[in-house]
Amino acid sequence: MKRYLLAPGPTAIPPEVLLKMAEPILHHRNPLFEEIVAEVRENLKYLFATKKEVLIFASSGTGAMEGAVTNMLSPGDKAICIRSGKFGERWANICKAYGVEAINIDLPWGDDLDPALVEKTLKANSGVKAVYMQATETSTGAMFPVKEVAAMIKNYPETLMVVDGITGVGVFELPQDAWNIDILVAGSQKALMLPPGLAFAGVSDKAWAFNKTAKLPRFYFNWAKELTNLEKNQTNFTPAISLIGGLRESLGMIKTEGLENVYKRIDGLAYATREAAKALGLKVFAKTPSPAVTAIMAPEGVDGQAIYKTLWKKYGVTGAGGQDQLKGKIFRLATLGYADKYDVITAIAALEFTLRDLGYKFEMGKGVAKAVDSLKDL
Ligand SMILES: *Cc1c(COP(=O)(O)O)cnc(C)c1O
Repeated sequence: MKRYLLAPGPTAIPPEVLLKMAEPILHHRNPLFEEIVAEVRENLKYLFATKKEVLIFASSGTGAMEGAVTNMLSPGDKAICIRSGKFGERWANICKAYGVEAINIDLPWGDDLDPALVEKTLKANSGVKAVYMQATETSTGAMFPVKEVAAMIKNYPETLMVVDGITGVGVFELPQDAWNIDILVAGSQKALMLPPGLAFAGVSDKAWAFNKTAKLPRFYFNWAKELTNLEKNQTNFTPAISLIGGLRESLGMIKTEGLENVYKRIDGLAYATREAAKALGLKVFAKTPSPAVTAIMAPEGVDGQAIYKTLWKKYGVTGAGGQDQLKGKIFRLATLGYADKYDVITAIAALEFTLRDLGYKFEMGKGVAKAVDSLKDL
């Protein structure tokens, strides 16, 4: 069976990148590898739209999230966490693990985030050191107003704006410097068209100043040490050498396409996915849907888990189901990374076969027709 990976991470990898990663291992304390790191550093700055260094870690995305807590805060500090799904909960759980007092803004899953609510919470609690949020809450497909929240936090010199952009960086506009994002986190297996195993963090001057007094324990994720090494085209520990070779290739591909074109492509693919779902009589779950991933509600009487499992088992399309309170209620199709219009058409065709199998009544071909029509100018 031919398989199509359309999950919100890990995502499909271009053959050019796969081949790069199959090359013999270079030693990392040697000039050939340092050349690769030098190029990657420059292109990461382009991707994050920052003049500052973007740190590279050998870990999944969560490693950079954890570091964004341990390198910035001290025991007993307060931080606001926006919780509206699995990944928002993760921020709060990391804070808890390190003895940081999490002040949680709990939103119904899939809802919008009102920046005024963040400011109200900031004003009601003195000494909040950081606000932790997602650009896209991948578990619900909701997109949050990073620009507006960051513009507000800019006026609070004692508070950092920290964004988990793991399904935002390389998906839609998220310029770190222009929007005053103090820490911007990314991961390799989402929009960067790589296997899992690399995490990234762009760090502002304001955040580096916080780092000077932060007292939480840290060892592997010591950002100040990573910065010193990165400036010499090195990493503190043995890097994921093959992945960084692949990263050079994938960043090169992103640069060749141009970030603006990447954003346009992904936006168009997500639009077509939503339109096709609606043409089949289905509803999109999130109030403000992200271009990264579309969470679609299972129709009345059909189990969302059955949709996702049938898509995978019978039709070779790997999407994702719903988690926790959304289990059985939604299924998700991603459009980030190495995705094109034929991925969307394939996914919608497989969805139609699946819905027919599960007894849902609709007009066959209507979703595919809508997808094709929505994609015609992309
Ligand atoms: C995938 C993802 C993560 C990272 O998860 P890892 O499994 O640690 O890579 C974090 N936040 C968001 C929003 C994600 O989509």
